[in-house]
Amino acid sequence: QRVGYAIVGLGHLSLDEILPALAQCKKSKVTALVSGNREKALKVAKQYGVPEKNIYNYQTYDQLKDNPEVQAIYIVLPNGLHAEYTIRGAKAGKHILCEKPMANTPEECRQMIEACKQANRKLMIAYRIQYEPYHAMIRDSIRQKKFGKVKFIEATNAQYTANPSHWRHVKALAGGGSLPDIGLYCLNTIRYALGEEPTEVMGYQYSTPGDPLFKEVEENVTWQMRFPSGVLANCATAYAAHENRTYKVLAEKGWMSMQPAFAYKGLSMKQSHAEGPVEYNEEPKVAEKNQFALEMDHFSDCIQQDKKPFTPGEEGLQDHIIMEAIYQSAQEGKPVKLQKYDKLDTFR
Ligand code: NAD
Repeated sequence: QRVGYAIVGLGHLSLDEILPALAQCKKSKVTALVSGNREKALKVAKQYGVPEKNIYNYQTYDQLKDNPEVQAIYIVLPNGLHAEYTIRGAKAGKHILCEKPMANTPEECRQMIEACKQANRKLMIAYRIQYEPYHAMIRDSIRQKKFGKVKFIEATNAQYTANPSHWRHVKALAGGGSLPDIGLYCLNTIRYALGEEPTEVMGYQYSTPGDPLFKEVEENVTWQMRFPSGVLANCATAYAAHENRTYKVLAEKGWMSMQPAFAYKGLSMKQSHAEGPVEYNEEPKVAEKNQFALEMDHFSDCIQQDKKPFTPGEEGLQDHIIMEAIYQSAQEGKPVKLQKYDKLDTFR
């Protein structure tokens, strides 16, 4: 028996990645669509075998509560709408899988967590990288000290965006610019790999003056993080640079790197380590799996087995607390200490 999902928002990610990925899912299926464009929804419904009666719009969304074919809602809307649709979805009695970034602010994240708790529904943030096999391999190597103690991690996520009228450039809908949209991958992947939380961040921010793309949201952010184990991390994200998604972990006796590190597919890894005088350069290979299918099936499994998701709402909140500190540091021009997090039981 597969868990039935309502997919909310039929934009680029839903149409190009999530709906096609459902074909590779073992425990998840699409049973409803929520869209403001009925014509598009009818076409997509036909393509994926969703009955017309299971097409909703943003006004009729709450009526999902009367549809037993839907157990979970996957929210794939602009970031600024995640909180509202999570809260309404939980009130409709459905489990919520919400795209990243979780929301616009830590406060919204807290409201989403509370709403799902009140409704006794599960909340998971769609951090696909945490369900991807190469990243799991690097995490395991770090935790097992395969190449000794990790000293330094570097991560970059850059892309070129070109449309100033897209919601990604509107603060109320995006929350911020490159940092919450793509820089988040650097932040979240490092926290996942290390299993610890930064105690201090230092950020820098720059937007090209007069560029209409960056009237409301930032262009570039770089930041450093200090972790309790002594690991230092150096991260960069950019909205007006050629695409680059890299990740590098430097340890006492070896390094591991990925390029591309955060793409949907085609991930590639290299590692180098020394054994005595001999240096080994390797390119470990793991079978590629669809990250969205892995992520959705994990959530379905949690629903069926009544387990807490690996990336629950608290995980999204933690990232928002750190991103807020990065912005604060950039604004004040000094490091910001991060000692008080909300209670987090996701140290994994
Ligand atoms: P998109 O612009 O392609 O799609 C957004 C959809 O929301 C559109 O269908 C649009 O019509 C709809 N929408 C509803 N209300 C809207 C409003 N008020 N303003 C604008 N659009 C509205 O965006 P996308 O790239 O599909 O991103 C959707 C979500 O998925 C975002 O939260 C984004 O961060 C996330 N995302 C995640 C990944 C990933 O790898 N996990 C990749 C891309 C996007």
